[in-house]
Amino acid sequence: MAYLNEKWETMPQEQLMELQLEKFKKQLAHVYKNPFFRDRYKQNGLEPGDVKTREDIKKVPFSVKKDLRENYPVGLLSGNWEDVVRIHMTSGTTGVPTALAYTKNDLEVWAECMARNFVAGGLTKNDIVQQAHGYGLFTGGFGFHYGLEKVGAKVIPTSSGGTDRQLRLMQEWGTTVFTGTPSYAAYIGEILIEKGIDPVKDLKLRLGFHGGEPCSDGLRKRINERLGYKAHGGGLRVCYGLTEMGGPMSMDCEYECGQHIWADHYLVELIDPVTHEYVKPGQPGELVISNLSFDGMPILRYRTGDRVLIDTETCECGRTHPRLTGFLGRVDDMLLVSGTNVFPSQVEYVLLKHPELSENWQLIVTDKKGLHALTVEVEPVPDAKIDEGFVSRLEKELHDYLEIRCAVEIKPIGSLPRFEGKASRVVDKRL
Ligand SMILES: [Zn+2]
Repeated sequence: MAYLNEKWETMPQEQLMELQLEKFKKQLAHVYKNPFFRDRYKQNGLEPGDVKTREDIKKVPFSVKKDLRENYPVGLLSGNWEDVVRIHMTSGTTGVPTALAYTKNDLEVWAECMARNFVAGGLTKNDIVQQAHGYGLFTGGFGFHYGLEKVGAKVIPTSSGGTDRQLRLMQEWGTTVFTGTPSYAAYIGEILIEKGIDPVKDLKLRLGFHGGEPCSDGLRKRINERLGYKAHGGGLRVCYGLTEMGGPMSMDCEYECGQHIWADHYLVELIDPVTHEYVKPGQPGELVISNLSFDGMPILRYRTGDRVLIDTETCECGRTHPRLTGFLGRVDDMLLVSGTNVFPSQVEYVLLKHPELSENWQLIVTDKKGLHALTVEVEPVPDAKIDEGFVSRLEKELHDYLEIRCAVEIKPIGSLPRFEGKASRVVDKRL
């Protein structure tokens, strides 16, 4: 098993926990310099010295996305403005940006985390990588790029889009690794079929590192087949991250059994979103993350809104850091339809269990005189055999899984939108 930094990646868990506490205390004192956080902490009667044990961490008030929005652009800076060298941001669905300012130290920590991820996923110096996460304000492109370079791989910074050129470069350079959103990888796979390019014979892709949106097991399986990752002895590694914590931060290792979160840089807690108490081990909860290593805008106890499962057992790869094993959906993506919570990832989960259906689908939400209705439009795969009862069986399956009625319409191949970056699967006509 290869490691970027074996000592840190396989550190005994007790040692990691001690280190986390020490770093958390230091970071709390640092964050206390920020007027917004200081006021909030003072209102809660919290002084930096009040955290002495791990249990005391619970005394620190949570941070939420609203804090970042309301303090845009740099109201949450705890470090020195003079030391800031990079700024990333997301516009988000509401249009109010969420920004993060990085110091040199922060970029180095970020690159280290990403490089660990890539090595854990099987990347080597000899790999030729087409990096197709978008370069720009979004954290994905640069986050991936610097991690890949740190490993010493040969990076071709294609950014997203330009699919014909992506395919040409894959053939000319013998690209072995592709990165980008899962939706874009799926789209590339579709174009390969269209152009008669055989991913196993004509391409050398063996690894895919894909982030920026959830990737269901069904989609993972399809991309693995379509792009030839498995056939070339590799696989698809899912990436998880969020701008508020710096960007992409955790990834599957070669065992694909959950995304490792580097505990020497990030402290994770799982809470019940209503009572704010810790959930029992093995139970799903809302992921709360503290950034233990950034200087610029570290956020402590950030409520991600993501419902996940965490496995703290040492992984087969030997890494002792916790893993996200079940990603049940991002709250930002959640739809409230007639009082029921619906995650688009749940819809994809059901659809992709059917080999007759392609990964091109969208969810339409309408309002008919106050009654909300869901319709899934989906394209079949070429030559799919769809019998008479298929649609009603699928509707029943969706109803059972989503606990809400959902109509299904099979659309002609090529009629639904394709995505080069993050997919936008929901058309909410209620807005
Ligand atoms: Zn592992």
